[in-house]
Amino acid sequence: MATILNGKQVAAEIRAELKTRAEALRKDGTIPCLAVLLAGDDPASKIYVRNKKRACEEIGIESRELLFPESVTEEELIAQIRALNADPAVDAMLVQLPLPKHINEARVLAEIAPEKDADGFHVVNAGRLFTGQTSVLPCTPAGCMELLRRAGVEFSGKHAVVVGRSNIVGKPMAMLLLNEHCTVTVCHSRTKDLARFTRDADILVAAVGRPGMITGEMIKPGAAVIDVGINRLDNGKLMGDVDFASAEPVAGAITPVPGGVGPMTIAMLMQNAILAAEKRHG
Ligand code: NDP
Repeated sequence: MATILNGKQVAAEIRAELKTRAEALRKDGTIPCLAVLLAGDDPASKIYVRNKKRACEEIGIESRELLFPESVTEEELIAQIRALNADPAVDAMLVQLPLPKHINEARVLAEIAPEKDADGFHVVNAGRLFTGQTSVLPCTPAGCMELLRRAGVEFSGKHAVVVGRSNIVGKPMAMLLLNEHCTVTVCHSRTKDLARFTRDADILVAAVGRPGMITGEMIKPGAAVIDVGINRLDNGKLMGDVDFASAEPVAGAITPVPGGVGPMTIAMLMQNAILAAEKRHG
């Protein structure tokens, strides 16, 4: 039986720690502030933004919501980002993705000042992570690392296998594990015989977006398994990339979906906002 890595509980602990840090900042006259830019009417994006606002309220971070119609232009978004960059009361910001199709996401994201980049997606932050410098960390991979750390999982010399190579999850995840001295293998859609790699993983991270694709027989007995996938099934239920029923008896530790990585992502976003406010405060 695997230890269940309860992201919901760990995220609540982190939010409580952040609340204390926010209170200390406020007492000293610095009100932590996170700005969220949302363009269009995507229902999932609206839910994400609402959840982020709630987390801010709980912790004591001022949240500024900037809403734009689907027809917003790149120039309008960029002008707003530049204004937020120049506003000393704003510690961090994020642009909720996806942006409307006519907008060049990379161009817009590049406008965010790297030190105010709450999501850690800016190329400067990616480059800093790649070169082992202090950077704003992307929230989902940072949340996975925090879950592993708090569960006492050892990194040095372990074989970590990351399935998925996106810029927001797979690649930074691999880099964080490498920085902790794991031997890292990154798998993707062209990987031949995926199970050959996953079966050798002491730490296995699945970030693909295919429900239940990692089954128990693909997992090394005792491995720590982190399931980043969030897939909505036809019956409306959420399922991860890992087939929990067959994986849990084999793994040493495993995250559930929901209640694993998801809540950690928001907690790490809040942490990025507090870190930025602490920097401003000196
Ligand atoms: P992307 O679609 O950007 O990337 C998916 C990756 O999986 C790609 O690198 C792709 O390979 C790889 N892949 C696809 N099919 C296979 C296959 N058969 N075998 C091996 N690799 C494969 O997704 P994201 O990284 O953005 O997200 C991944 C999952 O995590 C999604 O379910 C998403 O919803 C979830 N997610 C959850 C978050 C959370 O907070 N818990 C936050 C962010 C994402 P290739 O590069 O070759 O195409």
